[in-house]
Amino acid sequence: LLDGQAVDDHQITVCVRKRPISRKEVNRKEIDVISVPRKDMLIVHEPRSKVDLTKFLENHKFRFDYAFNDTCDNAMVYKYTAKPLVKTIFEGGMATCFAYGQTGSGKTHTMGGEFNGKVQDCKNGIYAMAAKDVFVTLNMPRYRSMNLVVSASFFEIYSGKVFDLLADKQKLRVLEDGKQQVQVVGLTEKVVDSVEEVLKLIQHGNAARTSGQTSANSNSSRSHAVFQIVLRPMGTTKIHGKFSFIDLAGNERGVDTSSADRQTRMEGAEINKSLLALKECIRALGKQSAHLPFRVSKLTQVLRDSFIGEKSKTCMIAMISPGLSSCEHTLNTLRYADRVKEL
Ligand code: ADP
Ligand code: MG
Repeated sequence: LLDGQAVDDHQITVCVRKRPISRKEVNRKEIDVISVPRKDMLIVHEPRSKVDLTKFLENHKFRFDYAFNDTCDNAMVYKYTAKPLVKTIFEGGMATCFAYGQTGSGKTHTMGGEFNGKVQDCKNGIYAMAAKDVFVTLNMPRYRSMNLVVSASFFEIYSGKVFDLLADKQKLRVLEDGKQQVQVVGLTEKVVDSVEEVLKLIQHGNAARTSGQTSANSNSSRSHAVFQIVLRPMGTTKIHGKFSFIDLAGNERGVDTSSADRQTRMEGAEINKSLLALKECIRALGKQSAHLPFRVSKLTQVLRDSFIGEKSKTCMIAMISPGLSSCEHTLNTLRYADRVKEL
């Protein structure tokens, strides 16, 4: 693998990451049904029974730009997904990186950082690694003279509403002007001068995101988190480039339309709608398509400017759990990712 080479030529990169089987899963005799035979291939070995009850494995093969095995760490995943897109925002483009998958598959671990005991150590997450590279790039001779100012924001979209993770989860309005410019009114956007300052914001936002929830029924599995790094020429409000990182709501929530609870059903329908719209918007990346379903969901609406423009680039990391009990959700995730990639 050449460093970021393949990604450079693509507007859309689609990868898959298998997380390791956990101690808990081993204890309850969960079987690992995923293999990664090559750097770009992943197979789901689904146990099936024939009519005469003999058992066999149905192998579902998927190809992606990269398939990360459970031995890969966040740094490795970052290197082949988001890292090559840092350059994009310095060159005046928009970049997005999505973590997609069922709850418990490793989205937040990948984006927000690994857990160290109780808190998430954001330093080894994709948000932080990208922020670090933004400052490294900012100080390169060819970009330093551009006098770009870096700022960051962090918000959450829950049930079609936007909440500011850097301002006590204050509810924010989204406005669209006549020229279809979308604005999240009052969103906190902190100017940052160093990676340490960004780390503080990420830590703060991560904590705000998970505060007041129990693990059994967490809001974070039902919300999309959006972390953004924006570059502006000094003294202007004009955006030079923007990198958006999205820790998506658990995709299993979208199919759960059978719940007895109306609120849960509505949330599920909203998540479903946003993930379907997202797929269409990514597939049409950079194309002139006025009819795209941006307005169908808050998620695609607020990311609108990241999908248009020839310089826009996106990567999606489909996260999967290795266990047999997740097999159906895993196949759903892989099929979704497959369709994002398909042209
Ligand atoms: P999600 O955000 O998709 O719901 P999490 O990121 O919270 O999932 O991951 C679920 C659990 O699995 C967490 O305890 C997390 O620490 C662990 N985990 C996820 N990915 C990995 C990984 N690559 N290596 C080790 N542990 C992981
Ligand atoms: Mg999560």
